Amino acid sequence: MPHLTLASLTTLRLGGPVGEPLYVSDPDDWQELVHTVGRREEYSPLTLGHGSNIIASDTGHTGTVAVMNTRGITAKRQDDNTVLVTVLAGHPLIDLTAWAAAEHLSGIECLAGIPGTVGAAPVQNAGAYGQQVGDTLDHLTAWDWDMGRLRTLPAQACRLRHRDSRFKHDPGRWTILTVAFRLTRSAAAPISYQPLAEELGVQPGARPPVSEVTAAVLANRHRRGLLLDPHGPDARQAGSVFLNPLVTATQAARWSAAGCPVHTDSDGRLRASAGWLLEHVGYRPGQKITEGVRCSERRTLTLTAHNGATPTGFAQALTELSAQVEIATGIALQPEVSGDWLDLGLLSRCLVHHLHLGEPPCHM
Ligand SMILES: Cc1cc2nc3c(=O)[nH]c(=O)nc-3n(C[C@H](O)[C@H](O)[C@H](O)COP(=O)(O)OP(=O)(O)OC[C@H]3O[C@@H](n4cnc5c(N)ncnc54)[C@H](O)[C@@H]3O)c2cc1C
Repeated sequence: MPHLTLASLTTLRLGGPVGEPLYVSDPDDWQELVHTVGRREEYSPLTLGHGSNIIASDTGHTGTVAVMNTRGITAKRQDDNTVLVTVLAGHPLIDLTAWAAAEHLSGIECLAGIPGTVGAAPVQNAGAYGQQVGDTLDHLTAWDWDMGRLRTLPAQACRLRHRDSRFKHDPGRWTILTVAFRLTRSAAAPISYQPLAEELGVQPGARPPVSEVTAAVLANRHRRGLLLDPHGPDARQAGSVFLNPLVTATQAARWSAAGCPVHTDSDGRLRASAGWLLEHVGYRPGQKITEGVRCSERRTLTLTAHNGATPTGFAQALTELSAQVEIATGIALQPEVSGDWLDLGLLSRCLVHHLHLGEPPCHM
């Protein structure tokens, strides 16, 4: 019988063998999974949603893999006229945003079109078009594998920041089981992102109906190649591969004078556009980077896998891109995709050193 692989569980379709994954389809399956992990004397399983933000390793995963497949939404009106919407972890985020638009519930409309599950969304504080999970997250419930019990974490305890959370820094400790958002029955949240305002034909700060914003976000994502089309030329991808990097005020002034878009985070920190930096050093949509790995047809910041791609080759492509940007601009790019098995920071530093000094790269 052919081996099951992580490739079959991730959108990049890369990654080595795994045992039979355990699909968690009913919340009542959870205790059984906890017992199975205990019987196998493992610390925790590898928790997966739709695998849309992962570079899985060539060597695969020897332990238990839990695929979150639970679906369901419950809504409860609160005294302050908000609605507490509690969602099971395996529910597709795309379906949740469509449901919220139909219910005229505001707060997550700009997340429309982001692939993956609701349970994974707090892990990187998923966001787009000026909105992120942390804007409306009320609390979540998660299994704490350290303590061996169910915990309820208020939003503040999740330490959500730009595409970051406590869950990213403690791999394996948490499996998120439900996520509760506090939404409002009202027009959409004020539009803060200029390209979305242009798509809608409104001024920034305007508040069109939620369904109009959801439709505009989907149309804009479609045009920019930000929707996952499993049959298109960019089918094998994990979205943006780098975060927009933090820059100092001096770097921001210098690079914005050269044309680089610079955004201010909600906490006042400055971030340069990773896509612009890649194009500044010469990369273009469709360009081959390593064997089987190229920039997507419409976006330099998305890398796609093709025949001949391997996880190691994909990681080397990330390393090459970030090293070239660092050499030309002094700005270090951080990967956005998860890949706990590969020390991309180390690889990148080695390559920068190599390109500067002409020495052999570190052993990878
Ligand atoms: C075309 C495309 C566009 C994208 N656009 C965006 C975007 O605009 N904004 C954005 O933020 N992201 C974007 N992404 C990235 C991705 O969709 C999000 O990160 C999404 O939240 C990942 O969900 P998933 O279910 O696929 O997670 P997976 O890839 O399965 O997992 C991602 C990480 O979360 C962990 N995890 C998964 N589920 C759980 C759980 N229940 N409990 C604890 N840990 C868990 C995994 O172990 C892994 O570390 C895009 C990806 C693609 C392919």
